[in-house]
Amino acid sequence: MDYPNRFDVIVIGGGHAGTEAALAAARMGCQTLLLTHNIETLGQMSCNPAIGGIGKSHLVKEIDALGGAMALATDLGGIQFRVLNARKGPAVRATRAQADRVRYKAAIRGMLENQPNLTLFQQGVDDLIVENDTVRGAVTQTGIRFHAETVVLCTGTFLGGVIHIGMDNHAGGRAGDPPANALAQRLRALPFHVSRLKTGTPPRIDAKSVDFSVLEEQPGDTPTPVMSYLGSREMHPPQASCHIAHTNERTHEIIFANLDRSPMYSGVIEGIGPRYCPSIEDKVHRFADKTSHQVFIEPEGLDTHELYPNGISTSLPFDVQLQVVRSIKGLENAHITRPGYAIEYDFFDPRDLRHSLETKFIHNLFFAGQINGTTGYEEAGAQGLLAGLNAARRALGQESWSPRRDEAYLGVLVDDLITMGTQEPYRMFTSRAEYRLLLREDNADLRLTETGRRLGLVDDARWATFETKREAIERETARLQSSWVQPRSAEADRLNAKLPKPLNREYNLFELLKRPELTYSDIASFKDDAVSDEAVAEQVQIQAKYQGYIDRQQDEIDKLKRHEATPLPADIDYDRVEGLSNEIRQKLTAARPETLAQAGRISGVTPAAVSILLIHLKKRR
Ligand code: FAD
Repeated sequence: MDYPNRFDVIVIGGGHAGTEAALAAARMGCQTLLLTHNIETLGQMSCNPAIGGIGKSHLVKEIDALGGAMALATDLGGIQFRVLNARKGPAVRATRAQADRVRYKAAIRGMLENQPNLTLFQQGVDDLIVENDTVRGAVTQTGIRFHAETVVLCTGTFLGGVIHIGMDNHAGGRAGDPPANALAQRLRALPFHVSRLKTGTPPRIDAKSVDFSVLEEQPGDTPTPVMSYLGSREMHPPQASCHIAHTNERTHEIIFANLDRSPMYSGVIEGIGPRYCPSIEDKVHRFADKTSHQVFIEPEGLDTHELYPNGISTSLPFDVQLQVVRSIKGLENAHITRPGYAIEYDFFDPRDLRHSLETKFIHNLFFAGQINGTTGYEEAGAQGLLAGLNAARRALGQESWSPRRDEAYLGVLVDDLITMGTQEPYRMFTSRAEYRLLLREDNADLRLTETGRRLGLVDDARWATFETKREAIERETARLQSSWVQPRSAEADRLNAKLPKPLNREYNLFELLKRPELTYSDIASFKDDAVSDEAVAEQVQIQAKYQGYIDRQQDEIDKLKRHEATPLPADIDYDRVEGLSNEIRQKLTAARPETLAQAGRISGVTPAAVSILLIHLKKRR
């Protein structure tokens, strides 16, 4: 049957990409349908119940700055919060939260159910309606035909999913869920480039069978960090600790002795796994000289005894998994509640996508999440928000939008994917961004919320909170810049105690905040009126201390933009341009771009390479 209502946007798949896509399209005012296998699994974390971490929290905060759900759901479901790299510079600081799996999922479902313009429907999608290379809708497994202007596909690890435990394998989208095979076959018939990737998960353990007394406890940070710009500590449920265990030589011996029973090492699995989240058999094999690896024993939630042993993802047979787990100190009597497994699935070469995440071959069809070769909830959520936004803009007859590499990690993620593609599951790192100091997790709102408001993604309440914060930062910066400390005053004496040399002239408080020895709390209470909002104080302090570096990065970006029209001489010998990789030299030699802007648009030619070309041109003159 044809469903009687016509939608603006259909989103297929209610994982991390699909839920952000559906919420974004609906926030834009589009009539949106979210079609998913099972409403009970909306927002389900397929693997470890944790959000954020290095590079990833930047994406979570960008999703949040653009009005998305992930950060707020983390504040509502987070049971242990930490700031990683807290002693390092602000560019690489990253908030990570252990989440209660059930609370997180409930928070996402609540937001979906309460979102105006959004309709949910539970059923697998087997087919797309495509006419004249344009998608027109989707057909479910019982033949219901839903029609829409645009479709966003967010099917995760489900397309042609095969689950492996030892030499046994069976079809599945993830443990307990069916694969999406009919849809996978249909997509394979369309002109996309399809390959296989793999990922894996560890066995889960019953906490009642673990001896915590011999494990190292790892509590969350105090004061407890908060993930969302709209979040607060009061939103958090009670907090819990994680624990740290270690593999040992015996563990590694067991793994080595059974590698021939691993589907990865016996050639049963063809897909490439995530390099930065390897299985324990991979770690033991690749780092054969290491006698121990850390295992973080993480709670799955407050109302369950199940534990997630982070660091021993495996697809070895169950009997070997049990030996591996029980070889670890503290886990000698551990009971495994669910075996670990690996999953292989179809993904599509993201070079077949535009910056908007629309496919190049089928108009109005957008792809987001693991289907594009990424791994991780955060990477999926960020792409989902962008694809949902652009599907809505297309339905509304508006131009697409995508952030630049100097505006957001989301810009880096999409640009990397669509220009370079990926041969292994792609995850975000701070090292992937050229302008790390500008793209901090603390300033995602200052970078993106105004744009989000213009695009229709940011509601009145978020906008009001943002404006209040932005004004407070400006007011406090102005106050510090106009508050002066005289040498030999009582105030100077207090500061001199912390400084290598006493102050010898008058300084304003903002200048003093640039000193590495002084913090906001050292100078703020001078001349009354220190701000109590920690986020405002943090922002003022970062801007003071890093202004020089931030300005320099901004200059670099402006310079590159100014020189985009600069011609590249026809006779340029790229082999003689110092600092370029061989791959980029070959690409430039083959393409012979006429301007720097054209060079920058060649797949794989990074902004850093364009900078090198600019310097080379200056030297030639
Ligand atoms: P998913 O979260 O997979 O969601 C897909 C959704 O689409 C599901 O709700 C599904 O039911 C629905 N769906 C699929 N096909 C259809 C259809 N035809 N019709 C209707 N609905 C459909 N990430 C990490 O960062 N680290 C890890 O260690 C890690 N390990 C993993 C281990 C395993 C075993 C798995 C399965 C995943 C792992 N991941 C890991 C990846 C992480 O789960 C994904 O990156 C993330 O969930 C991707 O989000 P997504 O929205 O793209 O897809």
